[in-house]
Amino acid sequence: MTGPIALLAAAAFCVVLISLMMGAQQANDLALKRQRSTIEHALDQHGRSLARELRVQTVWSEAFDKTQERNVLWMRAFFGLYLQELFGYDRIYVLSGHDTFVYGFANNRDVRAAQFAEIEPVIRDLIAAVRNPQEVDGRYNFVSKPIDLGEDQSVTHYAVADVRNIEGTPSMVVISTIVPDRPRVSARSAPYLLIAVEDLDAQFVQNLSSIFDFQGLRWIKDAAPTGYWSDDIKAIDGSDVGRLAWQSQAPGWEFVRRVGLGLAVALVLLAVLTMLLMRWGRRQAEHLLQSEAEAREAARTDALTKLPNRLGLAEVLVPMVEQAKAQNSTLAVLLVDLDQFKEINDDFGHAFGDAVLVEVSQRLKRLLKPNAALGRAGDDDFMILAPGLDATAASGLAARIVAALVDPVTLPSGARAYAGASVGYAVAPHDGEQRDDLVRRVELALAKAKDQGGRTALAFAPEMDLELSHRRALESALRSALANDAIEVLYQPLMDPSGTQVLAVEALMRWTDPLLGPVSPEIFIPIAEETGLIQKLGEHVLRRAVADGLAWPDINVAVNVSAVQIHHSDMVAVVRDVLSGSRFPPERLEIEITESVLLADERRADEQIKGLQRLGVKVALDDFGSGYSSLLYLRKFGFDKLKIDRSFIEEIGESADSTVILDSIIQLGLELNMTVTAEGVETVEQQQWLSHSGCHQLQGFMLSRPLSFEHVTAFIAAHNIAHAAGRA
Ligand code: C2E
Ligand code: CA
Ligand code: CA
Repeated sequence: MTGPIALLAAAAFCVVLISLMMGAQQANDLALKRQRSTIEHALDQHGRSLARELRVQTVWSEAFDKTQERNVLWMRAFFGLYLQELFGYDRIYVLSGHDTFVYGFANNRDVRAAQFAEIEPVIRDLIAAVRNPQEVDGRYNFVSKPIDLGEDQSVTHYAVADVRNIEGTPSMVVISTIVPDRPRVSARSAPYLLIAVEDLDAQFVQNLSSIFDFQGLRWIKDAAPTGYWSDDIKAIDGSDVGRLAWQSQAPGWEFVRRVGLGLAVALVLLAVLTMLLMRWGRRQAEHLLQSEAEAREAARTDALTKLPNRLGLAEVLVPMVEQAKAQNSTLAVLLVDLDQFKEINDDFGHAFGDAVLVEVSQRLKRLLKPNAALGRAGDDDFMILAPGLDATAASGLAARIVAALVDPVTLPSGARAYAGASVGYAVAPHDGEQRDDLVRRVELALAKAKDQGGRTALAFAPEMDLELSHRRALESALRSALANDAIEVLYQPLMDPSGTQVLAVEALMRWTDPLLGPVSPEIFIPIAEETGLIQKLGEHVLRRAVADGLAWPDINVAVNVSAVQIHHSDMVAVVRDVLSGSRFPPERLEIEITESVLLADERRADEQIKGLQRLGVKVALDDFGSGYSSLLYLRKFGFDKLKIDRSFIEEIGESADSTVILDSIIQLGLELNMTVTAEGVETVEQQQWLSHSGCHQLQGFMLSRPLSFEHVTAFIAAHNIAHAAGRA
């Protein structure tokens, strides 16, 4: 992690250094280029200004006349001596209009034509250029000036200048035409030429260096010494003139030298900063790893009990099974479910419910060996993974758990809550090796234990698996029955207490499978509820009942609606839809719901009940007293009808106590203006007791079993006509 960062930092330093060096080198190259062009420019400039200065002597009628006369005395005085003394020229030559030698002067005296002949080839191109200024290219350093001679005569003065190596000396050569400044007859013939040569000696070089600030500028013969830059000076014709050298300024290196210290400090600071950043980054990474580990841990832990949650349990289960197998040992898997947790939550509030869960988890922990794992597998489910426990030992632990949770949990206020627990368990590898199989089997055992009324421990048994596969077979058979319209509806009459008149009928589903035979609704309805099939089944019954009900005037038709239908679909909309497609009067329809509907979600239940009543439909509370009934519900929800569960009716005549409760339920129903119905009336004794108690309606095998549409139609006709006749 830090290796690459250090490498990167080192690379960054190198890049900074290299680009600094490259920048310095470029600055140097640029400076050299500039200085060289300054020198070349200065030479050009110098040549042109000499050419212009020479006009004093060359644009002059007297010079024109005297040269044409070839007056040597005059030429020595006014060209030779004068230009040597005042302008510092070293050699002067005069050529005729045909470029023949006329006069020469050097080192204070006249020179012969032979001497000029030696240098003539070096300057031949310049002579040609000044003669034909229009024909030469722009490289030549020309000056020109039109001269008005008067009397409508005019002439143009030309001069050209360039550096040349004259007999080993770098020199400036200026060649100028000699023209009159007054009218002359021969003014326009080929002019005589003045050739002036100046050594570009130490004096010139010194001037140049002081003007342009070149240190130690001088002509050299060989390569430039170290610390010096040089420029090879060339003439226009490409010939070598000489090599100028001067102290290199190397502004790039100068820059590096000057910023060097600052840069070094900056680099050190940068290195320190990088180190600090790296250390910080390392620490951040460690934090990140740590918080990631914490998040992983949190995702696997139940916040309330601090035990592993379902995910955490799932992760340890597999290795624990593997270990048991590897050690030729066993692993007991127990699932503990609180029997009354929902009621505790409802009665005492969630805070107390939480306290109960914590207390339960502690009680469980006390029963376990240190090598066992305990986790919270659901709202009120705990899972225990106990290594080394065989079936007998597991059964002992399960029994101890049930016993430990029979004791109530005490509130700070002193109130006591009885949670109670059921336990299902299985032992790996005997009961399963795969996690999912094992957990499913433990769940099956737990469900069975709860079915037995709670506070029970049950081991998994293979027939439970068979039950499960039987359920699966039922489910698919039920699906096809629904698709094939093989679900029948029977109607069980509800009669007045004397048993003479039919007041209503209850629609009851019937299903006879071609292979399985008749299947009780108490078996297939829970399956339909679990699989969602109940929505379609329920609607099927409702439509059928409403259609059939048109045949029985003045008889109410009751239809059962399960909790799943109320909570997972909009029953108000379904009923409205079915009624709108039929002429069936809403007030003759009764919807029966059970208390479980109210338990699950009171607000939703209340909405649906009120919604149904707004449609004009009656709502009955079914099986009242069978579950965790609360008389409060009767007041809270405005039911139209109360159906008292069969279990109360069964006890009529058995004991005095049971009829006390039954009697008070009936009285409360009457008080709340509900139609009170007794279910499961099987004996004359029950019927007589109930008719004295003030019950409005009776339903039971004694009066009639559920009947097919044809039979119930006949049954109604027989009774109600007889009844009407009896009254008449
Ligand atoms: P439930 O709503 O309490 O229906 C009354 C049950 O008691 C019916 O059983 C009926 O045959 C039975 N019964 C009637 N009189 C007597 C009697 O004197 N003695 C005894 N021992 N039993 C009597 P069934 O038809 O087996 O229905 C069982 C349950 O299935 C129903 O209980 C109801 O909860 C449910 N169910 C039936 N049809 C439907 C339906 O269409 N939709 C829904 N959601 N549930 C239905
Ligand atoms: Ca019912
Ligand atoms: Ca019932």
